[in-house]
Amino acid sequence: MSREAEKKHSSTGDVIVQARDLKKWFPIKRGIFRKTVGHVRAVDGVDLDIYAGETFGIVGESGCGKTTLVQTLLRLTEPTGGEIRMRLDGELKDLCALDEKQLRKARRNVQMVFQNPASSMSPRLSVADVIAEPLKIHGVGNPKEREARVAELLKAVGLNPYHARRYPGSFSGGQRQRIGIARALALNPQIVVADEPVSALDVSVQSQILNLMNSLREQFGLTYIFIAHNLNVVKYLSDRIAVMYLGAVVEIGEADEVYEKPCHPYTATLMQAVPVTHPDHRIEERAVIEGDLPDPASPPSGCRFHPRCPFAGERCRNERPVLREIRPGHLAACHLSEELELKGGAM
Ligand code: SF4
Repeated sequence: MSREAEKKHSSTGDVIVQARDLKKWFPIKRGIFRKTVGHVRAVDGVDLDIYAGETFGIVGESGCGKTTLVQTLLRLTEPTGGEIRMRLDGELKDLCALDEKQLRKARRNVQMVFQNPASSMSPRLSVADVIAEPLKIHGVGNPKEREARVAELLKAVGLNPYHARRYPGSFSGGQRQRIGIARALALNPQIVVADEPVSALDVSVQSQILNLMNSLREQFGLTYIFIAHNLNVVKYLSDRIAVMYLGAVVEIGEADEVYEKPCHPYTATLMQAVPVTHPDHRIEERAVIEGDLPDPASPPSGCRFHPRCPFAGERCRNERPVLREIRPGHLAACHLSEELELKGGAM
């Protein structure tokens, strides 16, 4: 990243999570001896820097590897190769070199908000028990202190402390997501990973949850890693966006810049597939991306997007483009980024 782009991040902070050539391949096993006959390359050589205090959006079609990337980045699943570092006690530490005790501490520092909070909440637990669960698991506080913490968290997410005695099933989808967020904040994490946090909610409730997340970020000094397939949602909340295609990052940069001036044909196509929801525009489902996402077990040669790219040429079929800086802080993996005039999203 250029010095100019680095400077932009002085307002957010230091690198908090870093990946270099990160890979996660899953073996494909066949036959009675379960012989490995190939690999699904879910994450295949990703370089990333995520800054403290920013909201980092990861966007792409289902199956592009965004959830696996985050799980690998946080060592919730073991990487096949590459390096991961996380800032712990002020220092960037190699996550793969941590012992069990240190890893447990690192994991406490990262909490998740899920797409469907109900699936991760036992219907037999009260809201108080759901929110206090991580505190109990990590042995934090006595029952009285945990009760006070639950009341504080409920208030922070816009719910009433008297809701603590009720059960998650009696709440609406939006309220359940607020409970999920309260639980994620219980241990005072530095990093919150939100995996499609609003895609299961009514459109009318989505912006309330996004606004809540935004204000909690400021209030608690959080760093968000925000995963979604909808570019509009990601752009709304994110400072920077990484666009993923078939296990690799194909474009990365400031959210507005990527949205308005995409440098990769896949990002531009993804944009055209997003419904326009601005009041001055007619709401319509625009062009869909041609063709299916190729099999990540046998990715296309050269540029992985070439079978679906309207600009693909000979070089694209033979040579894999590297992620390189096209404008300050704006990187893309396309041979033709400088020549193409790609249409951005409607504002
Ligand atoms: Fe399309 Fe070629 Fe760019 Fe790949 S490298 S996105 S095929 S123009």
